[in-house]
Amino acid sequence: MKEKIYTIPVNDGFDAEGECPFCFMERQAEQSAMRYVAGPGASYMEPDVRAATDRAGFCRCHMKKLYQYGNTLGNALMLQTYMAGLLKEFDWEVDNLKIPEKKGLLLRKKNQPEDAYWKRLRQRTDSCYLCDKIDYNMQRYMETFFYLIRDEQFRQKVENGKGFCLDHFALLLRMAEDKLPSGQTQWFYETVYAKMQSNLYRVKEDLDWLVAKYDFRNAGKPWGNSQDALQRTMQKLTGGFPADPPLKQD
Ligand SMILES: [Zn+2]
Ligand SMILES: [Zn+2]
Repeated sequence: MKEKIYTIPVNDGFDAEGECPFCFMERQAEQSAMRYVAGPGASYMEPDVRAATDRAGFCRCHMKKLYQYGNTLGNALMLQTYMAGLLKEFDWEVDNLKIPEKKGLLLRKKNQPEDAYWKRLRQRTDSCYLCDKIDYNMQRYMETFFYLIRDEQFRQKVENGKGFCLDHFALLLRMAEDKLPSGQTQWFYETVYAKMQSNLYRVKEDLDWLVAKYDFRNAGKPWGNSQDALQRTMQKLTGGFPADPPLKQD
């Protein structure tokens, strides 16, 4: 199958031969989104980008990553207009404050307004401009994956790979329900479950040897593949790259 612009990041992910090709794609997507919004191109000064960051804000994880990225003025400008919007909303809440009545369970179910302020506040704290951008890209990468598995050569790459992290494995299974080409159903389920099983055992063995290395009797024995088994196990279980240094502006 001929390489197209949208197949490049997916092939790069599989060619990286790590614990999870989708984690690799996600890291690329995250770094490029961070550079886009807070980097030297100063997209945060463009009105449409600022409107989007004012609307979505950032989650806790990305607040930290933006802080570590280091563009103090750029981040401060984004949060300045975000705060202005928040305060406008909050002023309205204060002016229209109704003390909630303590109600019985049945009444509460009937009369509680759907859009209680805590719910809107939760939406604010949970929504994230960067997560949205990354999720959008990940959806496209997954769709591309299901397009590419029609190709024998690509299927070979999947078979040669190390499976996926549990987080992306779950996403893959969820998307397979809609996107899996019918001709590849058997191949897909048999392959990915077998890959996950053998690679979870492999990572567990690496982790076992890392633990065993702390026994003084094994001190002189070689590390084998176990020196980075902790971060690879963490990745296998929840995705991401725990040992990555923070992304900093150039
Ligand atoms: Zn992953
Ligand atoms: Zn986020």
